[in-house]
Amino acid sequence: MILDTRASIIAVAYIVAAVLLIFGLRKLSSPATARNGNLLAAAGVFLALAITLLDRSIVSYWELALGIVIGGGIGIVAARKVQMTAMPQMVGLLNGLGGGTAALVSLSEYLRLSMAATVRGGEAVSVVLGTAIGSVSFTGSIVAFAKLQELLSSKPFQFPLQRAVNALLLVVILTLGATMVVGGDTATTPWIVFAVALALGALLVLPIGGGDMPVVIATLNALTGIAAAFTGLVLHNQILVVAGILVGASGTLLTLLMGKAMNRSLGNVFFGGFGATAAVAVGAPVAVAKTVRQTSAEDTAIALAYARKVVIVPGYGLAVAEGQHAVRELAQELEKRGVDVKFAIHPVAGRMPGHMNVLLAEANIPYDELVEMDQINGDFDSTDVVLVVGANDVVNPAARDDPASPIYGMPILDVDKARNVIVLKRSMGAGFAGIDNALFYRDRTRMLFGDAKKSLTSLVEALKAV
Ligand code: NDP
Repeated sequence: MILDTRASIIAVAYIVAAVLLIFGLRKLSSPATARNGNLLAAAGVFLALAITLLDRSIVSYWELALGIVIGGGIGIVAARKVQMTAMPQMVGLLNGLGGGTAALVSLSEYLRLSMAATVRGGEAVSVVLGTAIGSVSFTGSIVAFAKLQELLSSKPFQFPLQRAVNALLLVVILTLGATMVVGGDTATTPWIVFAVALALGALLVLPIGGGDMPVVIATLNALTGIAAAFTGLVLHNQILVVAGILVGASGTLLTLLMGKAMNRSLGNVFFGGFGATAAVAVGAPVAVAKTVRQTSAEDTAIALAYARKVVIVPGYGLAVAEGQHAVRELAQELEKRGVDVKFAIHPVAGRMPGHMNVLLAEANIPYDELVEMDQINGDFDSTDVVLVVGANDVVNPAARDDPASPIYGMPILDVDKARNVIVLKRSMGAGFAGIDNALFYRDRTRMLFGDAKKSLTSLVEALKAV
């Protein structure tokens, strides 16, 4: 009777945790509700963890407390210290740890179960997939982290017969995995699967250029979720299965959305080599033979002050300059003068999905001023001034007009249709794709060179004086 009540409480708590996770994810889909979504999902994870730890006396509570203090402490320090622009590698690292954990738990559960009886069928399938996918995600994510953190060169690392070697490793994993499912495995088989999958993860990501890492991380994130779900099946833990499937599904959707916004297929990211060219060329100065028209903060302030409609396009450079508070001040100053100000958000502006939403939210810029690409593109021809702040590729008309361009087909913000375009950046340097931008040479474009934060601050001062 007591056992029944206990089991019911646990089952209900898991359902509540799953509902919290689902609603949390739902709320993450809009910047206005994302903060609450995070809190809801965190509450769901906390509930799931607390119930699991209370339910299963895996290790002593002292050991658990020690683990929570050490892990939680590292998490708090890392989360507070990490720069917004370094978020992709932080996510990569955390994701890798998740994958590695799923692999180790699957493996150790297999070893525990096989001491008591033969593990076959469904359970063995889950063990093999949990171990293999989790290990691939672990080393893949660590390589992605190291490339983004510049601990490893961001250039693609390629060697002859790379794909053949990877295919061979996959065949080894599948064959040994099959022996674990049908019988015929030895004590070392699961360890070999584990080791080969670790090697495969690293070899899959090493040939990809550093620039493609955010997409790779989203894919590895999906893999970690799937590995966790298989681990949940092995452990007969429903909440781990649900949470794993949610992570797997959202990681897959994110990968597809990023691919669509960059006009890249997954095959192209993993085997295409665009990252190769991009990684080499990032930041390389572009040879300029065309006319570039420069402007000053004072002239820009006058153009802005007399405009009716201004659209601000934030990009990666705004994040680098940490100019989000300065851009909010500028928008407020313009609004005081009755100017209609909107922010145009490109889905892959910056270096991670939602980068600009998070950046602008940090400066308390009202959500109703942030307009997605599809909604704002029709408005540019009636816009007096577009202020491009540290954005480059996402406003490059070559993506729309030049079939020879490497970014041809990537959807862009049609800022070149506005009456005036003012671009705030430090130089004529290229953006992430490493290519020149015809927008900078157009008659209606003026360049305001300098660090974005400094230029924005000068603009606010100049505007106050108009
Ligand atoms: P870009 O990378 O195209 O351009 C950023 C520009 O910012 C550079 O040209 C640079 O020029 C300028 N810049 C850098 N530092 C500063 C500074 N301190 N002050 C002013 N300007 C500065 O950025 P976008 O946001 O336009 O495009 C994002 C790119 O990243 C796209 O190609 C996208 O496909 C890619 N990407 C995006 C991902 C995502 O999820 N968001 C993931 C992976 C890739 P200068 O050096 O002259 O100042």
